[in-house]
Amino acid sequence: MKILVPVKRVIDYNVKVRVNSDNTNVDLNNTKMAMNPFCEIAVEEAIRLKEAGNATEVVVVSIGDKAVHEQLRTALALGADRAIHIDAAQNLDSLHVAKLLAKLVEQEQPELTILGKQAIDSDNNQTGQMLAALLGQGQGTFASKVELNDGKVLVTREVDGGLQTVGLALPAVVTTDLRLNEPRYATLPNIMKAKRKPLETISADSLGVDLTPRVTLLKVEEPSKREAGVIVEDVAELVSKLKTEAKVI
Ligand code: AMP
Repeated sequence: MKILVPVKRVIDYNVKVRVNSDNTNVDLNNTKMAMNPFCEIAVEEAIRLKEAGNATEVVVVSIGDKAVHEQLRTALALGADRAIHIDAAQNLDSLHVAKLLAKLVEQEQPELTILGKQAIDSDNNQTGQMLAALLGQGQGTFASKVELNDGKVLVTREVDGGLQTVGLALPAVVTTDLRLNEPRYATLPNIMKAKRKPLETISADSLGVDLTPRVTLLKVEEPSKREAGVIVEDVAELVSKLKTEAKVI
């Protein structure tokens, strides 16, 4: 069984994001980038399925400019077998990402595609769902457990007030939630070995998807500054302030 894992290059989650001077986007100059954390979980899950003997090949794919090679090499060092770079502009609409991935799925024919539930830069939470719809495949989103059983994938999902398990006929699309697993770190020997693993680049144009933008980013603003707090003398003063100043009780 082949597993395809799309991974996105995003600003490292430890970095404090800055807005650029004309408020048109976040500032990416000299900003540390990393693999989207939910994609790391997706790579880890695919590798665990392979280690358990349930998968034979893990292929990772990233869409963007050449810089995504860094994240693809990381995925190879973690245990993926080969990588595909789809060369395209950064910041495509989710629909375009999903359409490019759908074309790749048609070519590669994976039985399972595992994505992150959302990219922490745009917070779209759309690509996996769109991909499943474009492919006409079942989707198990926000997975906290993934099991292969009798030609099906069982996905346990965290829903309000409990857990839901769905069974999907293969091929299928799964998106990962935070509690699915704890990704491993790449070891130095595996980082060295990853340099020799196959990484192929294909142009987005060759996949025949119309990439005309349908969504325009109009403005990006910093959150408003938090005002300084005040220390109150006693509970009576707190209650009075909540009533008269904050007007919340
Ligand atoms: P989003 O719908 O943008 O929040 O992203 C959800 C998931 O879609 C990510 O965790 C990735 O698995 C995948 N994805 C989004 N953008 C890309 C990209 N440029 N290249 C590869 N995978 C992507």
